[in-house]
Amino acid sequence: MTKSPPEDAQSRRAVKPVICYPVDALPSAPVADYVAAFIGAPIVASATAAPREAAAIRVPAGHVLRISSVGGPQVGDLNLFNANNLQERFYSGKTRALHGAHVSTGDRLWSQLPYLRPIATIIADTLDWYGIDDFGGSVHDVIGTRCDPYTGNLLGGTQYHHCCHSNLTRALADETGLSLAEAEPLVHDVLNVFMCTGFTRDTGQYFMKASPVRPGDYLDIFAEIELLAVLSACPGGDCSAEHSSDTAACYPLQMDVLAPRAGALTDWTSPPVNQYDGSHGR
Ligand SMILES: [Zn+2]
Repeated sequence: MTKSPPEDAQSRRAVKPVICYPVDALPSAPVADYVAAFIGAPIVASATAAPREAAAIRVPAGHVLRISSVGGPQVGDLNLFNANNLQERFYSGKTRALHGAHVSTGDRLWSQLPYLRPIATIIADTLDWYGIDDFGGSVHDVIGTRCDPYTGNLLGGTQYHHCCHSNLTRALADETGLSLAEAEPLVHDVLNVFMCTGFTRDTGQYFMKASPVRPGDYLDIFAEIELLAVLSACPGGDCSAEHSSDTAACYPLQMDVLAPRAGALTDWTSPPVNQYDGSHGR
C-alpha cells in the first residue's frame, strides 16, 4: 500500500541535488597532448569483430585503440583488461558515477577496486555532436551491462548463444587460453560503444534507440596502461528494435591500434594504481 505523502512532501522534493563526485579534483587528462601525438599516426595492429561475434586486441600503453563503424550502423560492447593482470578491469559503475551515464572526449575509463585508476582516456569521438536528445538519450553508455543469455532466458525462456556476454567470453578464452568457465567470470559490464540510450522520464526504465552512428564514425581510446580490449558486435545491430536474437541487421566493427608519433609522449608514464592503503581500518 502506498503511504500518503507527508505534509512537507513538496519541500522535501524541492531540495536541490548535489553532484556526488565533483570531478574538478581529478587531474585532468592532457587530451590536447594525446591528440597531437597521434596526428598521422600509423596503424600497427587491427582486428575485426564480425557481426554477432567478438574480437580481442592488445593495445600497448601510450597507444590508441580506434573503434570504427564499418558497413552499417552497429553498436559494440567493450571490455577492457589490464593485459598483464586480468583481475584489473574496466569499472563501468564508477566511471558512470564520476563522468555521467554517457562518456565522450576527455572522459576517463576507470578500473575497479582496489586498483581504481584511469586505464584509458577518450581522446576523440566523432559522435560528440549528438549531445543529449529530447528523450534524454545520448551515446556511448556506461549504464547497460551487456546483453546476456541469462536475462534472455529469464524473460523469454530462450537459449541464445550470441549475446555480447557469450561473444566476449569466447573471444577472451580464445585470446588468453583460458577455458570458457575461467573466462566467463572475468567478463564485466561494458562501455556500450555507439549505443544510444537513456532512462524514460515517466517510468525511469532503461531505453535504447537507433544509434546515430554511420560508417566512418569512430571513437579513439588512449591506453593509459597496456590493455587487452575485447569488443562484441552486439546482436542488436544499431539497437533500434531488439537484441538477444538474430533478428536485427548486424555489421562488423573495426579495431585499429595507432602508435604515437616518434618522439611524442616521451615524458608520459602510466598512472599508478590507487594509493588507498587497503587496511580498512584494521
Ligand atoms: Zn549486446
